[in-house]
Formats: sequence, C-alpha cells, structure tokens
Amino acid sequence: MASAVQTHCDRCEAPLMRDAAYCENCGERTHRAKRLVRLAVRVEILFVILVALVIVGFTYVFYVQQP
Ligand SMILES: [Zn+2]
Repeated sequence: MASAVQTHCDRCEAPLMRDAAYCENCGERTHRAKRLVRLAVRVEILFVILVALVIVGFTYVFYVQQP
C-alpha cells in the first residue's frame, strides 16, 4: 500500500484537504479513512470474539457450580 499522502480524490480528482477523511466534492473516502475503517472493523471483531468467550466462560462456570 502506498504510504504517500493522498492529495487528490480517487473518484473525482478534486484536491483533498490534508488529513481529510472524505472528499469535499463527491464524498468519496480517502485512503486514510479506508485504512482507519479497516482497523476499526478488525478491533470490533476482536472485541466481539472476546465478549463471546467471556459469556461462554461464565456460562460454563455457572453450570459446573450447580449443586
Ligand atoms: Zn471526490
């Protein structure tokens, strides 16, 4: 993936503000925003897996401790 700062929109070629997340002209996400979204999705999936493991763990302990 190119690490150079994106200066123009992929879709409409309009100049982008520095560190912009969206194109002001057409609303297309910039490379930076796409990368952040991918990272956020990954973190969210990890979090969901973690919560599921905790729930399964507590359910298991609950049933094991039944008299
Ligand atoms: Zn654009």
